[in-house]
Amino acid sequence: MSIPTVPSGVQPIDPAERVGRGVDGVEVLGALSPSRAGDFLACPLLYRFRTIDRLPEPPSVDAVRGTVIHKVLEDLFDLPALDRTPQRADAMVVPSWDAVREAEPALDELFPAHDEGAALGAWLVSCREVLARYFTLEDPTRLEPADRELYVETVTDSKLLLRGVIDRVDVAADGSIRLVDYKSSRSPREAYEGGALFQLKFYALVVWRMRGVVPKRLQLIYLGNSEVLTYDPDERDLLATERKVEAIWDAVRLAKETGDWQPNKGPLCRFCSHHALCPEYGGTPPPIPVRPPADAQPSVDVSG
Ligand code: SF4
Repeated sequence: MSIPTVPSGVQPIDPAERVGRGVDGVEVLGALSPSRAGDFLACPLLYRFRTIDRLPEPPSVDAVRGTVIHKVLEDLFDLPALDRTPQRADAMVVPSWDAVREAEPALDELFPAHDEGAALGAWLVSCREVLARYFTLEDPTRLEPADRELYVETVTDSKLLLRGVIDRVDVAADGSIRLVDYKSSRSPREAYEGGALFQLKFYALVVWRMRGVVPKRLQLIYLGNSEVLTYDPDERDLLATERKVEAIWDAVRLAKETGDWQPNKGPLCRFCSHHALCPEYGGTPPPIPVRPPADAQPSVDVSG
């Protein structure tokens, strides 16, 4: 099984960016994933720091917990159905952490060596607690996913590449499709549910374009507080999502042309590593990097 995204100390990684940047035979003008679109919506300057400057960001224990849990939930379905028990999942936490750490050795710095493993031990317990909640929400012995960690991509009429990696795709006997996304965090307040669903609507749009079938159900599984958020989209929803994505892309292109990447101070700032470079916190952004021509194609340097 592939190892899912590891929040890196080198630069923020989007799962889709590890898989591909283009579509054979189609000249794309740019690429966008839900994560990068979300960055731009939240704060254009953050988008710039991540996709244009490609600034390093320190890994966080919360993000890496999510990575480990995603890996366990991906690998769990390699087991025979009856073996997908809470005990087996619990036993997969340490091997999954080892695999994630092996892929990204910088993660060792997350836990101080001088406390004889106490911080790591407590963190692994927290991984197990979050994982245990999964079994209160679904019975994996009764599920046979069609795909896990599925890379999807499509090109819109305006030559924008949309791409992403879907945690799980279930296909029922009648062909209906359910897209599932695991979150190790808590569910958002009702006012923010629309934003949370944007990622899955984006994936649903891509799947619709690829397969000609509108996914019947979108399902967000919040393991932080054992909640499931579902939504049944229709074509109108997905057309509206496409318009929204195109509008985001137009705004990205405008910012790129003008060099005007506005900061947007808000709740996300708490998790942002770039206060020292952000005008909202008294900092000054670095000059926009000049890349060699091959790297300067919009499909690369403003992707995500
Ligand atoms: S600190 Fe806040 S406003 Fe500044 S770049 Fe980060 S998210 Fe944007």
